[in-house]
Amino acid sequence: MAIDVKEFDPAAPTHDGPEHMKRVVIVGSGPAGLTAAIYAARANLDTTVIAGLTYGGQLMLTSDVENFPGFAEGIQGPELMAAMRAQAERVGAKVIDQDVERVDFSKRPFTLNTDSDTYTADAVIIATGAAAKWLDIPSETRLRGRGVSTCATCDGFFYRGQDVAVIGGGDSALEEALYLSHIVNKVKLIHRRDAFRGSKIMQQRALSNPKIEVLFNTGIEEILGEDDVTGLRVRDIISGQTRDLAVSGVFVAIGHEPNTGVFRDKIDLDEKGYVRLIGESHTNVHGVFVAGDVFDTRYRQAITAAGSGCKAAMDAEKFLESEIAAAEHHPIEMVTPRNW
Ligand code: NAP
Repeated sequence: MAIDVKEFDPAAPTHDGPEHMKRVVIVGSGPAGLTAAIYAARANLDTTVIAGLTYGGQLMLTSDVENFPGFAEGIQGPELMAAMRAQAERVGAKVIDQDVERVDFSKRPFTLNTDSDTYTADAVIIATGAAAKWLDIPSETRLRGRGVSTCATCDGFFYRGQDVAVIGGGDSALEEALYLSHIVNKVKLIHRRDAFRGSKIMQQRALSNPKIEVLFNTGIEEILGEDDVTGLRVRDIISGQTRDLAVSGVFVAIGHEPNTGVFRDKIDLDEKGYVRLIGESHTNVHGVFVAGDVFDTRYRQAITAAGSGCKAAMDAEKFLESEIAAAEHHPIEMVTPRNW
C-alpha cells in the first residue's frame, strides 16, 4: 500500500519554546514514553511528556514484574513506573498529567491540545500504548493481579506446576496457551465458538499439545475466588449447562485495543487502529515518531517498549538535527528509513 508521506519545509518557524532548543512532545507515559523522555531530555531537547490523567500505562495494573532486567528480586509495576518517571524528570523532562484531546499534525510546529492547554512541538513521539480487552465481569475486575492476568510472559511463572485457563480463540490465546504449557501442569483453553480464529499452524500446535485441553463453545460465567483465583465457572453454549473448573490462574487473551482515537485521520493507522510503522520508529508524517505497543502487536513487553522509546527519541533527535542543518543551508545526510 502506498503511504502518503507528509513533508514539511525545514526552514518553517519552530515552536515558541526556549530559544535554540527544539521541543519534543511525547504522548504517553508507559515504558516507551518515559524511556523516550529520558533519551530526548539527555540529548538536550526541550522535552515534555503529556502523560495522561493516569500515568504509567499497563504496568500500573501489574503486580510483580520479574522480567525487567536489573531487578533481581522483581519489582512492583507501579514502583517501576514511578522510578522511570522520576528518572525522566531528573534528567529534565517535564511530565504533565493531562490527556491529549486534539492534535494538528498538518503544519509545523505541531500542536497538541489538552482540555486546558496547547502544546507546540517540532517533533512528536506517540507512545500511547494499547489496552488489553477484558471480559468485563465484576469478578475479573476484583481478581485482576490476583490470579487474573493478560500476559502469560509476565505472570505465567507464578503458576508453575498448577492448572490455569486461557480465554480466547485468536493467535494471542493460542500463543499464551503454548507458552504456559511449558510452565504449568495443565492449560484449559476456553473459546466461545467451535473454531479458532488464530493461524492454522498455531491451532495445530495447541490441539496436539497434551498439556492443553481445548473447550470449544464455552462461555465464562464467573471467575471464582475470594482473595485469589481458585476456579472458573463456565457455561456450555450449546447445552446451557454450567460447571466449575479448578484453576489458579486465568489468562484473558481476547485481543488488544490501541489507544489511537485522538490520532485518527492525523497519521496512518492500520485496519485495527495501530500506528503504521515506517522503518524503526517513523510514521507517515515527518517529525512524528512512534514507540511501544501502539504499533507493536507482536512483542508487547515493557522491555521492548522501552527499547523502541529509545529508538524513537534517537531518531527524533537526528531528524531535528538534520532539519537545523538544512535550515542553515548546510545540508548533512538526511536520516531516512530504508523503506520510505
Ligand atoms: P483477535 O485475533 O482479535 O482474537 C480475539 C479472540 O478473542 C477471538 O477468538 C474472539 O472470539 C475472542 N473474544 C473476543 N472478545 C471476547 C469476549 N468478550 N469473550 C470471549 N472471547 C472473546 O486478537 P489476538 O489474538 O490478540 O490477535 C490480534 C492480532 O495480532 C491478530 O492479527 C493476530 O494474528 C496477531 N497476533 C499474532 C501473533 C503471532 O503471529 N505470533 C501472536 C499474537 C497476535 P471470536 O473468534 O468468536 O471472535
